[in-house]
Amino acid sequence: MAIERTLSILKPDATRRNLTGHINAIFEDAGLAVLAQKRILLTRAQAESFYGVHRERGFFNDLVSYMISGPVVAQVLSGEDAVLKNRELMGATDPKKAAEGTIRAQYAESIEANSVHGSDSAENAATEISFFFAEIDIVA
Ligand code: ADP
Ligand code: MG
Repeated sequence: MAIERTLSILKPDATRRNLTGHINAIFEDAGLAVLAQKRILLTRAQAESFYGVHRERGFFNDLVSYMISGPVVAQVLSGEDAVLKNRELMGATDPKKAAEGTIRAQYAESIEANSVHGSDSAENAATEISFFFAEIDIVA
């Protein structure tokens, strides 16, 4: 096992319901540390760029509109196998399919408004972390 970093986003449905602390407690209880965190309102161009891999998907425009509908909290999480561990804590994309006890099973409102984003590989984590944070912002 290796200490990794991953990029997490608390999505607008989570910030709207004041769930930042609840979700961070789940990360911290599982051994993931929050090394950097900021609450921001993404522009449409920023959201389109972040989710660019999904540009051809039918849900892309709705997803972008949703992601700019309110503030998000972007964060760098660190810990052993952080990428996979965070994906396990998050649960499946569709909350109806998410395992009991996962963040999405507990908090997601829909397959779109599903409370959290997490990088899906170490390589994508590095790219996504640098989208939001400079190395000087990340304090281990
Ligand atoms: P994940 O966030 O679990 O990695 P994806 O990368 O496949 O999932 O999708 C990115 C985000 O797009 C999802 O978290 C969700 O907000 C949204 N999304 C995915 N699939 C759908 C869908 N079928 N309908 C609406 N929104 C979707
Ligand atoms: Mg994804």
